[in-house]
Amino acid sequence: MGKKRALVLGGGGFIGGHLARRLLKEGYNVTTVDLKQPEFREIGQGETFIRDDLRDPYFTKAIVAGGFDEVYQLAADMGGMGFISGANDAEIMHNSATINLNVLDGIARCPVMPKVFYSSSACIYPERNQLDPDNPVCSEASAYPAAPDSEYGWEKLFSERLYKTYQRNKGVDVRIARFHNIFGPDGTYKGGREKAPAAMCRKVAEAKNGDAIEVWGDGKQTRSFLYVDECLEGVRRLMESDYSEPINIGSDEMVTVDQLAQMTIDISDKDLTIKHVPGPQGVRGRCSDNLRIDQVLGWRPTMKLKHGLVATFHWVNTQVNG
Ligand code: NAD
Repeated sequence: MGKKRALVLGGGGFIGGHLARRLLKEGYNVTTVDLKQPEFREIGQGETFIRDDLRDPYFTKAIVAGGFDEVYQLAADMGGMGFISGANDAEIMHNSATINLNVLDGIARCPVMPKVFYSSSACIYPERNQLDPDNPVCSEASAYPAAPDSEYGWEKLFSERLYKTYQRNKGVDVRIARFHNIFGPDGTYKGGREKAPAAMCRKVAEAKNGDAIEVWGDGKQTRSFLYVDECLEGVRRLMESDYSEPINIGSDEMVTVDQLAQMTIDISDKDLTIKHVPGPQGVRGRCSDNLRIDQVLGWRPTMKLKHGLVATFHWVNTQVNG
């Protein structure tokens, strides 16, 4: 049997880049597509990188018809709280929905259809269940009645449903994960699209002894953060399973944003304090519920946040300070 062929959409980005590397290591032939050249990694040996726009239906139909066994759809117009909290909503909705519509239309037209993975998000969960920072509810079944707190979340929920309709009506074999705050080296850490762990690492890396690190809001909002290697372990296990309902891939080690900041400061060994400033915060509490992933895959993430944060801080610190 020849090598398996995988197509990674959004392979110029953070998770897509790590996934491309992992699939190459597993012996796949990998094709990656992105609007932009990978920022922090070299194209791998045995990887074909195509720079193009998945909003273009002709290009997208042609690429997904390339005889792949598996398609990983990670491309999205995406960013942290600073990016998804209002001003970019029209682009986020339009661009990401268009990509998913094109991908599925293309796949459904293939004589032999590839299996497709779709990366949804914890942002689909209803705001009403995430008001208490100590007890957020993010079990898969709690998604409905739907009430995400961002348009980014609404697009993800729409697209989850889109994938399910293509499964029911067109026989597309789908896998859907709801990622919860994935972080690690090679992720955006500046420029406005960065998420909390990378932003924290950058602020701490830039600071000098005696400085105060700015944290948006009161710092008491809770989150969980999953290191990218464990995210990919979950993705690959899900892809190999026959489970096609949406499933959480996230950490269940819940921390406050202040704790995340303090942990980063401690890793840096600098003498820094925390200063709270106004800024977009999102829901008050969010943490992955890992009951279903444990039941379905017999596996759940276990890595401690501290471990992944050390690796991420050192990477960001090198980017910032050389
Ligand atoms: P990322 O921004 O690093 O990667 C997304 C990539 O998609 C980018 O490289 C971008 O250039 C590309 N892209 C956007 N529009 C495109 C287009 N029209 N044509 C081709 N490429 C296009 O983000 P990421 O953190 O790697 O996230 C990957 C996926 O996982 C996204 O769908 C995101 O919504 C989802 N997700 C991520 C997280 C997280 O914490 N990182 C959490 C939940 C969900």
